[in-house]
Amino acid sequence: MENNMLDDQDFLVASISQLSISSNSSQPVVARFRPEWLQFDLDSDSNNLVRFELRNSKLFKLGPSQSVCVSEASEVNKEKNYSRGITIQFINEEESRAFHCAFEQRKKDVTVQGSFLPNGTVLSKSKFEDKIEASSAKMYFHYYGQLLHQQNMMQDYVRTGTYYAAVMENRADFVDRVVVDVGAGSGILSLFAAQAGAKHVYAVEASDMAEYARKLVAGNPLLRQKITVVKGKVEEVELPEKADILISEPMGTLLINERMLESYIIARDRFLIPNGKMFPGLGRIHMAPFSDEYLYTEIANKALFWQQQNYYGVNLTPLHSAAFQGYFSQPVVDAFDPRLLVALAVSHEINFMSSKEEELYEIDIPLRFIASVGTRIHGLACWFDVLFDGSTVQRWLTTAPGAPTTHWYQLRCVLSQPIYVMPGQEITGRLRMVAHKAQSYTLDLILSAKMWGPGAEQGGILQTSSGKFDLKEPYYRMSQPQAYPMAQEQTPQQLLQTQDLPTLSQDEEGSDLLQ
Ligand code: SAH
Repeated sequence: MENNMLDDQDFLVASISQLSISSNSSQPVVARFRPEWLQFDLDSDSNNLVRFELRNSKLFKLGPSQSVCVSEASEVNKEKNYSRGITIQFINEEESRAFHCAFEQRKKDVTVQGSFLPNGTVLSKSKFEDKIEASSAKMYFHYYGQLLHQQNMMQDYVRTGTYYAAVMENRADFVDRVVVDVGAGSGILSLFAAQAGAKHVYAVEASDMAEYARKLVAGNPLLRQKITVVKGKVEEVELPEKADILISEPMGTLLINERMLESYIIARDRFLIPNGKMFPGLGRIHMAPFSDEYLYTEIANKALFWQQQNYYGVNLTPLHSAAFQGYFSQPVVDAFDPRLLVALAVSHEINFMSSKEEELYEIDIPLRFIASVGTRIHGLACWFDVLFDGSTVQRWLTTAPGAPTTHWYQLRCVLSQPIYVMPGQEITGRLRMVAHKAQSYTLDLILSAKMWGPGAEQGGILQTSSGKFDLKEPYYRMSQPQAYPMAQEQTPQQLLQTQDLPTLSQDEEGSDLLQ
């Protein structure tokens, strides 16, 4: 029923006064969060306390640095108790923001923790907890909690420089806007956004790096009042306002490793205003077959150890085939010469602005290539790029072979059985990537080509080769790109361009791929 359908009603009240408890000492009041309580220490000895049960309390903003906390009489004592409220005057706006974040977070923690469904199952804290193994998450956030790993990413100047340029060249998208930095790490992107004139930036970081980010922000006086570091997962934290723009660097090897794109999309659904911007807004995975005899031999030779029949008198051969399969199940990460590619790439776009999180649980990409040379194909090479679709400048961050190398390098899935092709021959197949609970993916690759040589004219027999790879267990092979001899004259740049396949989006501009 709408309000205007009710009759106006008047009440006679005895009098009105401010809803407040005042602290009469000149010392500032300390607000402390206890597991179930919010407690205000009105004096330094904590003799004079005001406590609010978090579960029954609500916090409202009266102004930029003034709020009111209201606690509803608790269920049990409702008969005796009445609701209470106090007004809180913060030192400044910054303190107010941080307090509101902490309040909502703590309140959510006590409300969710230990909540039971009627059938006895405990409600989990968030989507993150539902789908990621606790042991994997622990190791993951331990890794990012270390400065050396943040430094490694910051020292990837292609990466960080492209983010800096994308933000600074598109100031218009940041000036006076509320920004959320999804997985802020050291807080570097938040500091960029603040430099570009953001009204306020919430830097959300789940690992202990959040403490360092606070230090870094505090040490940059011109920017610090614009940044609030919020420690927690984007799936779980509460923020006091919505964002006009999200900034994040959620890309892992092959774009999707670490499953952080899902967190980026959840952050979009939780914090971004409708039609808000995302930096980056889309990503593309590019794939092309390659030929690399050296790499193939290197991997096959790793298992030779298990072919010894007299290893201290022991026959190792029963384990040879398992070891061989094991080596071929590791995707290879290194920077390779683009001349190793033997067909135009196929690409698969993931639009971060419109994709659903569940769409990333399983990604199935049909493959079709035309071989540019007669050769032995050893597998599928993959790389990715992301787009910053700014209102002033569009900028791509690419990890393509031949482009300046990034800390992502490129990724290659090597097949234990190579495929022989003729120039112009069609290669078909598919790459199926299925997310797993250890924050990564299992990759299933299958490639096929018609046999050539005698008998090909009679319809031909299909050569098929397949492999299963765990993206979580890559083989880091960081050799410098070698000068491979050219089998036949071909322009690498041509092969890096993406084919015009129906899987591509209508509005993409292929010409931007390799700036
Ligand atoms: N933005 C920083 C760090 C990028 S690395 C930079 O560009 O340099 C990704 C960061 O996101 C890591 O620090 C990791 O701990 C954090 N992260 C990953 N998943 C997260 C999640 N679900 N919630 C909050 N932080 C997350």
